[in-house]
Amino acid sequence: MAAARRGRLLARAEAAPEERLRIAVPSKGRLREPAIELLHDAGLAPETPGDRALAFPCRNAPVEALLVRADDVPEYVQDGVVDCGITGLDIVRESGVNVVELLRLGFGACTLEAAVPTESSVQSLVDLHGARVATSFPRLARELLPASIELVDVHGSVELAPRLGLADAIVDLVSSGSTLRTNGLRSVAQLLESEAVLIGPPGADLQLVSVFRSVVDARGARYLMLNASEDALAEICALVPSSRAPSVLPLAEPGMVAVHSVIPAADVWKLLPALEAAGASSILLVPLERMLG
Ligand code: AMP
Repeated sequence: MAAARRGRLLARAEAAPEERLRIAVPSKGRLREPAIELLHDAGLAPETPGDRALAFPCRNAPVEALLVRADDVPEYVQDGVVDCGITGLDIVRESGVNVVELLRLGFGACTLEAAVPTESSVQSLVDLHGARVATSFPRLARELLPASIELVDVHGSVELAPRLGLADAIVDLVSSGSTLRTNGLRSVAQLLESEAVLIGPPGADLQLVSVFRSVVDARGARYLMLNASEDALAEICALVPSSRAPSVLPLAEPGMVAVHSVIPAADVWKLLPALEAAGASSILLVPLERMLG
């Protein structure tokens, strides 16, 4: 049934409940809303779940979302309770379960870092030889830290461990770094880069992956349009960071052209002033909904 369901995804929104593709979505925490927003942006039309909802259907596709703790998603996927799930890569790696990463989703970015009290003399992992390290990621810490380090398992408020005399250092998730600073800690090493991921069982072949990918890719890109004189064209084309050559279209005004291209959203801030300086005018930048192929 699961295989048939995977193949037919998006064929019929009104499919019988047992034929729907089941996706696990974090029920709370920082990954919940962006995960639901992804279903929305993918055009699945998820029904807005109430605070206490355990599941919700999608109106446009035979997909049912199950709301479960982010920590439980890998096991639900491994056990076949759901066909796929959204959770943090750090959680997947820490769980050690047999699932595959189908797609990085571009939200929930953070790093697993080793940190010490600001006044500590420790500068790198090598200096932590024989130290005690508090973490709620014992599996990843064991895998990524030198073997001589003694691990202290803690659940929550890991940052307090050095101040309480429980440990010399911590291993925890960091996004902006402000929690570390507030607690008088500084990072000495990045151990793992994490973000939200779509996971499935080994060998999973889900149509949903390319649907989500088209949204994730589009979020990271912008459609650029500008006008320029033909004299400035070579310089402008050299500036545009596109995977393909930009489209150049003649304008009704002789000697003038329009240049269209898809560019990485991250380049916009430095590109627009450079284009203006190179003679571009009427510069327009619009968001993309989907990118495929
Ligand atoms: P939450 O349910 O809010 O505790 O979120 C847990 C997941 O959010 C983590 O496992 C990470 O994948 C992700 N995340 C992103 N930034 C952070 C952060 N600064 N601290 C903890 N988790 C983060």
